[in-house]
Amino acid sequence: MKRIAVLGSTGSVGQQTLDVVRQFPHHFRVIGLAARQNATLLEEQAREFRAELICCERDDSYLNGRIRERSLRAQLATIEEIASHPDVDIVVVATGGKAGLAPTLAAIRAGKVVALANKEVLVMAGQIVTREAKINGAEIRPVDSEHSAIWQCLWGEDSKRVERLILTASGGAFRDKSLEDLVRATAEDALRHPTWNMGHRITVDSATLFNKGMETIEARWLFDVPFDKIEVLMHRESIIHSLIEFVDGSLKAQLGVPDMRLPIQCALTYPERMPASIPTRLDLSRMGSLNFGKPDLQRFPCLSLVMEAGRSGGTYPAVAAAADEVAVEHFLARRIGFMEIPRAVETSLAAHKPIKDPTLEEVLDADSWARSWAEDWIKAKAL
Ligand code: MG
Repeated sequence: MKRIAVLGSTGSVGQQTLDVVRQFPHHFRVIGLAARQNATLLEEQAREFRAELICCERDDSYLNGRIRERSLRAQLATIEEIASHPDVDIVVVATGGKAGLAPTLAAIRAGKVVALANKEVLVMAGQIVTREAKINGAEIRPVDSEHSAIWQCLWGEDSKRVERLILTASGGAFRDKSLEDLVRATAEDALRHPTWNMGHRITVDSATLFNKGMETIEARWLFDVPFDKIEVLMHRESIIHSLIEFVDGSLKAQLGVPDMRLPIQCALTYPERMPASIPTRLDLSRMGSLNFGKPDLQRFPCLSLVMEAGRSGGTYPAVAAAADEVAVEHFLARRIGFMEIPRAVETSLAAHKPIKDPTLEEVLDADSWARSWAEDWIKAKAL
């Protein structure tokens, strides 16, 4: 029986994690649940899974009330306390944005297995996080579908014999649009992802390919490979989730239906494989064909911007992520156009004074600097 904590339990990946847990009541027990908002859903989850420790950052008073009137049997704790609690074996980090940083580090310092779905943790502080994991004997398992694919391909292989990691990209909602279409694209258009069902920011980040750029940085830290060994391959069907190429030129890929519950299950049950928690199976005979191509960096400049930030390292990736988050918010609120998202990222990176081997504090400082810088830039544009 593995005891787990789910951070970000009311979000998209958090809910799908609980979906997986539901399928294996004899293998997993939920000890802690944490969320930023949606206290009523958190309460429901706490009741169903009999969680002992709960935390709702924006609405602890609601939960406190339910606990005091004895309608809910659980204890309030901070998200860091849940992440590092001695009763917890696996911490699923499904929070969004930089909110995942502190609890991930708390879990790592407590030597936990961390199932990591939050990209910013490695994008902002990959060096710090992987260094701490090594020191504390903590294990980081990928939940992102591409990284789970690479991880699965690496099982039983000698990582020194791997020549390249190839991350596949569906191309998002705008993969077939012209540059002129992209300039006029709206938030509604961007939120219609062709193959994956995800939260709002990541869906827009998929449409700009910013998300894929962040994934190259994630891969760099998760698998400890230099940037020149990481490539992005367009693959619209999202069936091949990623590949590795060996020194002899042989390729190995992982395929499956595009459903996040698969990589989540993989991270929870490793090193075992369990009967699938999802009913649909991939029927290749009905797929017909699979398509591949090179990413178009002119229509999707975010990809090269983030990869360049990753290559430069230091505080650059944190700046790119923060500026993008601000720009996406303004795009979703219809204050800027789609092609202004990469402009906001680009100008923030250009204005930034980087720190080479930053401390966590310096990373967070760079994050705040980029947020206010991007806000000001967007405000000045809107005037
Ligand atoms: Mg992904």
